[in-house]
Amino acid sequence: MLDTKTTLDLRATPRVLLVGRPTEIRIRPAAPDTQFDPSAAYRVTHYPTAHLDSTEWPWPGRAMPARVEDGALVCTLAADQEEEHLITVERIDGDAAHSLGRIAFYAVEADLFGRTPYKGDLHMHSNRSDGREPPAHVAARCRQIGLDFAALTDHRQYAPSLEAIAAFEGAPLDLAFYPGEEVHAPGNPIHIVNFGGRFSVNDLFADRATYDREVAERQAQFGGYWPHEMWSNGLQVARYHAEIGRGRRIPIVGVSDAHGCHRGLFGWYYTLAFARSTALPDLRSSVAELYSVAVEDIPDEYPRVHGPFRLVKYAHFVLAELMPGHDALCEPEGAAMLRLNDGDPHALADLAALQGRTARYWAEIFAR
Ligand SMILES: [Zn+2]
Ligand SMILES: [Zn+2]
Repeated sequence: MLDTKTTLDLRATPRVLLVGRPTEIRIRPAAPDTQFDPSAAYRVTHYPTAHLDSTEWPWPGRAMPARVEDGALVCTLAADQEEEHLITVERIDGDAAHSLGRIAFYAVEADLFGRTPYKGDLHMHSNRSDGREPPAHVAARCRQIGLDFAALTDHRQYAPSLEAIAAFEGAPLDLAFYPGEEVHAPGNPIHIVNFGGRFSVNDLFADRATYDREVAERQAQFGGYWPHEMWSNGLQVARYHAEIGRGRRIPIVGVSDAHGCHRGLFGWYYTLAFARSTALPDLRSSVAELYSVAVEDIPDEYPRVHGPFRLVKYAHFVLAELMPGHDALCEPEGAAMLRLNDGDPHALADLAALQGRTARYWAEIFAR
């Protein structure tokens, strides 16, 4: 039973709702063997956050009817617009109300409701160029830090990305690892990432004459990614917003350009793609159709999210409330990939047992 003196960490399913569709939610204490008491009185209050006027304090909440069922508080949440919803739970003892905790939900329109947030990094290196670790190790580490999709993009080399994919050929994985390379066009200081390409772009430069002719027609500019190049990153973000203000539609991604996966950059910068799956066509269309954001997630700092305002707002909720649970599931998968790569005979069976957990996690979060 609940200790009414302490504020509880709460859990609930689902956490993401569809605007306009009243949804039954089940709230439980996070602590194991702790339940809501069917003979106790609880007060559940709903705060639709976008409706709140911050000058009005205390915030006006809406009382929510709730019942206790199998140790969970069950209530129905209805949202009439896209926004975050906060629900507080109190236990009522006579005149006294004891706060038991609060938990956030997010209501989205149908287009976002059909999409799952996937974390990916489109740019990183192995020791086949100037990174530290072998390709397969990098792939395993990607899953260990919670990525759902990634590509190895070594300087001028497409083959290492294929090597990483081949290392896990036939293994049951929930990490989508794609071919890639960092493209160094001759006579051009600007590097371009080939993510998921079916062939090597670097190989095209073998025919220099054709290349030079085509380049004469096009020029592109990109900036830096290092922490000490924050001004450069800042300029890119400012330029992005200036161009958006002019009405341009600009797809956005975040990449780490990590050169080692046990030190800085790795996992600090990534893309959050709101996509139907991690299959390449779905990822590509989610970015092209402006359903992605770029994330700067530097340790001990709050993540900074860049992209369309609506997605940035939702991404804040996703990163704070939903991704920690997702990342915790990815970690043992990545660890098993590392063991498989090291020749552990049990690793394949471990991976098979772990496969599908993140998909089930999202299925509970969304209850589509
Ligand atoms: Zn490099
Ligand atoms: Zn690079």
